[in-house]
Amino acid sequence: MDKKEFVVFGLGRFGWSVATTLAESGCEVLAVDDNEDKIKDIADIVTYAVKADATDSETLSTLGLSNFDGAVIAMSEDLEASVMATILVKELGIPYVLVKAQTDLHAKILKKVGADMVVFPEKETGMRVAHNLIMGNFFDAVELSSTYSLMELEPLDEWDGKSLKDLNLRSRYKLNVIGIKQDDELNINPDADDYITKNDVLIVIGKNEILNKLKILKN
Ligand code: ADP
Repeated sequence: MDKKEFVVFGLGRFGWSVATTLAESGCEVLAVDDNEDKIKDIADIVTYAVKADATDSETLSTLGLSNFDGAVIAMSEDLEASVMATILVKELGIPYVLVKAQTDLHAKILKKVGADMVVFPEKETGMRVAHNLIMGNFFDAVELSSTYSLMELEPLDEWDGKSLKDLNLRSRYKLNVIGIKQDDELNINPDADDYITKNDVLIVIGKNEILNKLKILKN
C-alpha cells in the first residue's frame, strides 16, 4: 500500500505535533511554514520542509499537492491566512482538509469555505481533562465524541436487584447498557429481563454530562 501523504501548514505547537507524529507513523509529510527557523528544525523529521507563505497561490501550485490525502492548516491566530489556505488547498483537489480554529464563528467561516473538519485542540483537551478528572471512579472510558463516551460504570445502589426493563435506563438517562460484567463473566448485549446487582460493572454508552451526574449520585 502506498504511504499516505499529508501537508501541514503552520508549525506552531499543534502543527508541529501533527506533522512529526504523522512522519513518525510512516506517512509522507510536507511541512510548510513562513518561518525559516521552524523549517530548518523540522527538515530532518519530515519528508519535505518548505519555507513558504500558505496564502500564496502560485507557490502552493508548485508544491504538487493534488495527490495528497489530506491537509492540516494550523495557523489559527491568522483567520485570513487560514481561510485563504483552506480555499487554495481545496481548489488543488486535496480531499480532506482539517483546520485549527479559535472560535465557533471562525469554525463556521472555515467550514463555509471548504474545511472538512475544524478542531479546537485547547478547548477539546480542556474538556477531556475536566471530564477525566470528574470520571475518577470510572474504571475505563473511551471518548466516542466530545459528547458521548463508552465506559465501565458502577450501578447506583438503588439499581440493585432490578432488571434493565424495570430500570428503563435508556429513556431515563439515555444510557445504553451494552454489557454487564458479573464476577469474571461478561454478558454482552444483555436482555431487558437481565438483572443488575450492586457488585456488577455495567458497560455503557452515554452522554458525558449524564455519566458525570451518575458518578456524583454514586458518591
Ligand atoms: P496556532 O495558534 O494555530 O497553534 P501558532 O500561532 O502557534 O498557531 O503558529 C502558527 C505557525 O504558522 C507559526 O509557525 C507561523 O510561522 C506559521 N504561519 C503563520 N502564518 C503563515 C502563513 N501565511 N504561511 C505560512 N506559515 C504561517
